[in-house]
Amino acid sequence: MLVAEAAVAGSIPRFEIPHWRERLGVAAGITGRGADAGRGFDLGLWSQAPVGEVMSRWLAFRREMGFSAVVLGNQVHGTEVMPIDSGCGWIQVEGIDGWVCTTPGILLTITVADCVPVYLAVPRRAVALLHAGWRGTAGGLLERGLERLLAAARVDESKVVMHCGVGICGGCYEVGSEVMKGCGAAAEGPGPWHLDLRHTLAEQAKALGISDVTTSSWCSAHDRSFFYSHRASRGSDGRMAAYSGLSPGPSRLLPTDLPGNI
Ligand SMILES: [Zn+2]
Repeated sequence: MLVAEAAVAGSIPRFEIPHWRERLGVAAGITGRGADAGRGFDLGLWSQAPVGEVMSRWLAFRREMGFSAVVLGNQVHGTEVMPIDSGCGWIQVEGIDGWVCTTPGILLTITVADCVPVYLAVPRRAVALLHAGWRGTAGGLLERGLERLLAAARVDESKVVMHCGVGICGGCYEVGSEVMKGCGAAAEGPGPWHLDLRHTLAEQAKALGISDVTTSSWCSAHDRSFFYSHRASRGSDGRMAAYSGLSPGPSRLLPTDLPGNI
């Protein structure tokens, strides 16, 4: 089923998966490009933007979200998924393409611009957030993430809800035969071919026993006025942060958070 993340009013540009807060107890969504000229609300830590400006946007993001910890890292298009269940402030780990968490108040993030953020949730119990480009999708990132989530939440797959978030659509994602074959899609004829990564991930989810799966109707490339697209910008665009976390209780909210307290 197609579901559009909805714009949220506030001090930063962001979009949330509708009803996840009430239904699942999970804050999950993605930041957007924003209306500012220039690089907009670029959160790319390893992209071309000046680091000081990027970090000030991360601080604004954290203040807006009200979580006591934010988890981030530089992804490597691999299949490592790491459980994070304690800590406060900024938690940064290198070389990880997915996170799992059972602790309210910790916000998982990944940075994307075309790759698909995959959100998995066990209502009010656990979340996982995966960075699924074609290599992760082909390499079994979803299966690994699901395994880690089920182990952490101590439930079976029937309890899992999944959303394939804002990423590049099949029409905008032209690929070579190695990508098609890697993702188990037929590469017939002379090419080039088009791959719908979110469709591939939804099919994988079905095979893994996840029945509650939705897909974003946004495309990072052809909806580039709201989002960033690596492909459509020929590599010059910024990055969005996809996020997911069990909503913090009132006692876990930080009343103040000093800028620069990184
Ligand atoms: Zn598109």
